[in-house]
Amino acid sequence: MPRLLIKNAKALLGTHPPEVACVSGTAMAMLPAIEEGWLHAENGRITAFGTMSAWPGVQDWNDLTVIDASGRYVLPGWCDPHTHTVFAATREEEWVMRLKGATYQEIAAAGGGILNSARKLRAMSEDDLFSGAKARLEEMMRLGTVAVEIKSGYGLSLESELKMLRVIRRLKEALPLQVKATLLAAHALPEEFANDRAGYLSMICNELIPQVAGEELAQFVDCFCETNYFTVAEMEQILEAGTKHGLRGKVHVNQFNSIGGIAAAVKHNALSVDHLEVMTDADFSALAAPRSPLATIPTLLPACSHFLGIPYAPARKLIENGNTVALATDFNPGSSPSGNMNTVVSLACTQMKLLPEEAINAATINAAAAMGLEQDLGSITVGKRASFIITREIPSPAALPYHFGSDLIDTVIIDGAIVRAGEAAG
Ligand SMILES: [Zn+2]
Repeated sequence: MPRLLIKNAKALLGTHPPEVACVSGTAMAMLPAIEEGWLHAENGRITAFGTMSAWPGVQDWNDLTVIDASGRYVLPGWCDPHTHTVFAATREEEWVMRLKGATYQEIAAAGGGILNSARKLRAMSEDDLFSGAKARLEEMMRLGTVAVEIKSGYGLSLESELKMLRVIRRLKEALPLQVKATLLAAHALPEEFANDRAGYLSMICNELIPQVAGEELAQFVDCFCETNYFTVAEMEQILEAGTKHGLRGKVHVNQFNSIGGIAAAVKHNALSVDHLEVMTDADFSALAAPRSPLATIPTLLPACSHFLGIPYAPARKLIENGNTVALATDFNPGSSPSGNMNTVVSLACTQMKLLPEEAINAATINAAAAMGLEQDLGSITVGKRASFIITREIPSPAALPYHFGSDLIDTVIIDGAIVRAGEAAG
């Protein structure tokens, strides 16, 4: 039985009590820590931790990996609850068009954007899609990500959406990190249905959702609810069909326009509302109603704002309103070509004015909750998965977002096994 001991940590961060599934409002600024800590894991799960002054020592050295984390912080690995990591090709050429002045919407109208990704994905084999995405996920794990949500949405036909979801299932089986899948057939209207919106919606609700749920190919359903994409009524139709088949909503809303998607998502008990760059008073009130902190978690994507040069979501106001704010990369070839959660945490601080503690909570415990993994990941709590980041020797946890662009990770551990070995593990 493989076992792991981490000792002499400068601090264990994110030691939230077991009853805390997520943190909201002012509580987001509190990142519980144990100074001079040790931690023990067995069979991939945390079994005990505490301070070195009360360390019980080692009784059994068999099968025990020991890591001396002197001068280093140990924190829960990043959870990334919104990505489009399975795609056929990058889109640098569109980015260069934007640098020359074209807008995201103009590029989409000229046959670029999501439909460009869809054409390329349909033509690519399942094996090639798998190996491309696997390499991206391996890089993300090296950068400290231990759980990821991946959406379909570049297939836009029954057959190609199922192909994407099967690739996601293979990734889940092949890699140690936790993977959740989301059906995003309503990402854009495919060319074949350009004159038959109702027909496409009916295919999603009456064929795709039942089949995906029946084969357990996804846990969530998504919709790009936005002007020129899908209306609030169309999103509601999808959320209703999802609920009927056990797929909870995780939806794209309020990226460019506020059209009422948030209130509708709250009404349908979606697990998360993602993006929120454009917010009205009505949107804030829809999220502020007395609700369970685990219901409809605002998930913010600062790397997308950074890359597109659009406004950042009003994270401070959401926190002031008592919300449970989560962070994600939105890794995709069009609007956020990076799966680096360290960058996201840094942008959340520098651009959205989150405190380092708030950003770390948003990228760990709240991000785990935004993908239904709050029992498993997101904090250093007995019984949870032993999936951590061990930092390089840094003076304080704030150094992580402060040194934007630096790689301050020494070691990454997933389910008690070292996936990136640094000096501490040597
Ligand atoms: Zn997205």
